[in-house]
Amino acid sequence: MTRILISADMEGATGVTWPGDCLPGTPGWERCRPLLTSDVNAAVAGFFDGGATSVLVNEAHMTMRNLLLEQLDDRAELLTGRHKELSMVEGVQRGDVDGIAFLAYHTGAGEEGVLAHTYLGNSLTGVFVDGVRAGEGLLNALVAAEFGTPVVLVTGDDRTCADARGYAPEAPAVAVKDYVSRYAAVCRTPARTAADIRAAAARGAALAGRREPEPPRPRRVEIEFDAEHLAGAATVVPGVEQTAPRRVAYTAPDMYEGIRCFKAVTTVVSAAVEEWYG
Ligand SMILES: [Zn+2]
Repeated sequence: MTRILISADMEGATGVTWPGDCLPGTPGWERCRPLLTSDVNAAVAGFFDGGATSVLVNEAHMTMRNLLLEQLDDRAELLTGRHKELSMVEGVQRGDVDGIAFLAYHTGAGEEGVLAHTYLGNSLTGVFVDGVRAGEGLLNALVAAEFGTPVVLVTGDDRTCADARGYAPEAPAVAVKDYVSRYAAVCRTPARTAADIRAAAARGAALAGRREPEPPRPRRVEIEFDAEHLAGAATVVPGVEQTAPRRVAYTAPDMYEGIRCFKAVTTVVSAAVEEWYG
């Protein structure tokens, strides 16, 4: 049995280059849903080519209702909708996942990359775990490692692939587009990117297999915002302290708790953002 979990974000999908391409409810998002579904289907096909026996796709973008179930490869199952304990990597805590794919991912807040951000589209300028700058890729890889699951595929822009070499050097990485600015990229067509993703997923399947779970250890998480009041707002989350005008920090006993606290902070902070002044 080889069980694969695909964490499907959207900013790093084929053809997606600006907020209107991935903002639920907009015409641009409707247009890009099949492009994302195509990327996912290519990964599903590749994983089965490489010997996977089951693939669960976990929606990981905004409302977490972006993929088109009716166009999904019949061999996969889809976890759709939000409010999930582990959010983008829901399912990994079952402890029986042999490999996780970060599909249509992007670089972190404050980095170069198409639609670069960390959880919140704006407001947050950096996240650091034990002093190391972390985007969603590293954060989620640290959580998966605690459950013994290796990262076996990453797709996104070329900057996302470079970032992945830092946290998952073995994993095949597919650049579906090349960064030009935060809202511009040189894109390849879905037919081309699907072929690349399928081939990479087949190679990734060979890396799948349960690892020794990373022993839990305390993690110091620091979050920097673009405005002082957001740091203040975050301190209502127990354990979160303001360490500088635009910075908060907390220590979690492990990354499982670390990511859950991070989610609480981003939820509180997003409610404290004012429309024009941030
Ligand atoms: Zn997203």
